[in-house]
Amino acid sequence: MTDTPRTLVRRNPWPTGVSRPVVPPLQLSVVYASESPDELDAQYQGRVQGYTYAREGHPNADHLSHMIDGLEGAEGGLILGSGMAAVSAVLLGLLKTGDHVLGGDQLYGRSLRLLTQDLARFGIATSTADSTDVAAMAAALRPETKLILVEVLANPTLRLADMEGIATLAKARDITLMVDNTFTTPRGYRPLDHGADIVVHSVTKLLAGHADVTLGYIAAKDPVQRKAIYDFAVTTGMTPSPFDCWLAERGLYSFSLRYDRAEENARKLADHLATLRGVKRVIYPLRPDHPDHNRAAHLLGARGGNMVSFELEGGRAAANALTRAMPEVAFAPTLGDIGTTLSHPASSSHRAVSPEARAAVGITEGFFRISVGVEEIELLIEDFTRGVAAAATAAEG
Ligand SMILES: *Cc1c(COP(=O)(O)O)cnc(C)c1O
Repeated sequence: MTDTPRTLVRRNPWPTGVSRPVVPPLQLSVVYASESPDELDAQYQGRVQGYTYAREGHPNADHLSHMIDGLEGAEGGLILGSGMAAVSAVLLGLLKTGDHVLGGDQLYGRSLRLLTQDLARFGIATSTADSTDVAAMAAALRPETKLILVEVLANPTLRLADMEGIATLAKARDITLMVDNTFTTPRGYRPLDHGADIVVHSVTKLLAGHADVTLGYIAAKDPVQRKAIYDFAVTTGMTPSPFDCWLAERGLYSFSLRYDRAEENARKLADHLATLRGVKRVIYPLRPDHPDHNRAAHLLGARGGNMVSFELEGGRAAANALTRAMPEVAFAPTLGDIGTTLSHPASSSHRAVSPEARAAVGITEGFFRISVGVEEIELLIEDFTRGVAAAATAAEG
C-alpha cells in the first residue's frame, strides 16, 4: 500500500501488486500525466503508446474498438458518441463542397436528413436511389460522386441491397463505398470482406444490446481516410464516454449468444405470424416469400437476423389493439435490445414521410417492425397470437 496521504488534493498513486483485475477497469480520467517533455514527444511521434487527453482517445474506447475490429475484420476502428456521430464523421470528415453523394433511398431517417438537408448547406449534393437495383444506383451517379452510402437491410421493409453489384460499381468508378451495418451486424454480413471501404455501426443497437448506451463505430480500410475521419471526430468532439464504452463492452461479451438466440426466435416467430388470421404478410429475409429471397440466401447464407416486419389487416384501430393487447412487449422505436421491442413506422420513424410515399414502399397503418429478443419463444408466440387476435377483432368490428 501507499503512504498515508499528506493532503486530499494530490492524486495519490493507485495500489499496485502482482495481481490484475479480471474485469477491464473503467478509466474516467480526462487527462493523462507524462514523465517528461521528451516522453510526450515520443508519444506524439508514435514511438511509445500512451494517452494525453480523453477527447483524443482513451483506453475504454480503444478496448471496445479492438473487439469490434475483430468482429468486422477491420483495423484501427474508432468509437464515437453515437451511431449518428459515426455517420456524420465519415461524411463530413471526407467530403468537400462540390462533391456528390449517392445514398440508398431507404436509409435510416437521420442519415437521410443529414445527406439531403445538412450536407446541402455545405454545398455537397446528394441523390438517393433504390439500393436493391444496381442499375438505378448506376444511373444516379455523377462525375463528382465521391461516396455511396447503403445499408444492407432497409428499415423497416427489410429489402436487401444489391451489395455485390454496388461494390463492383463503386470499385469501377473509384468511389468510396460506406456501409451502415447496424441491422445485419458482422455476424450476418462483413462489408469489408465484400468490397466496402468503410463500415459504420450504431453500437447502441445489437452490439451493446441492452438499450442503455448510445455509441457508434467506424472502420475505414484506407489509413489516409481513417486519419481524416479521426481528426474530424476529435476536433468536433464526437468523443464517447468511458462509462458507455465500458457498458458496451460488457454487453458485447454476450453478443454472439444473444444474436444466435434472437435470430432463431425471429425465424420461428416469422413463420408463426404467417399462420395467423389477420396477418396480411410477413417479411423475413430467409422466408421463400421475401422479395429478395435469393439475394438474402446468397449474401447472408443462413443468417436471417433478428428483425421481422409484418402487416396487419385493418388500419390504425387494428394497430392500437395489437400494442394494447401485448403490453409486455415494449412498443418503442428502437431495436437490438435483449428483449423484444415493437415499432410502428407510420407513427414513429416514418411519420414525417407522406402517406403516399409510405404506401409506395408498403408501409401502411397496419405495418409493424419487430426487433426480436432472446426471451423464450413460447412466450413470444403467446404474446403475438394474443395481439394479432385482438387486432383482427378490431379490424372486423
Ligand atoms: C439507430 C441507427 C443509427 C443511429 O444510431 P444512434 O446510435 O441512435 O445515433 C444509424 N443507422 C441505423 C441503421 C440505425 O438503426
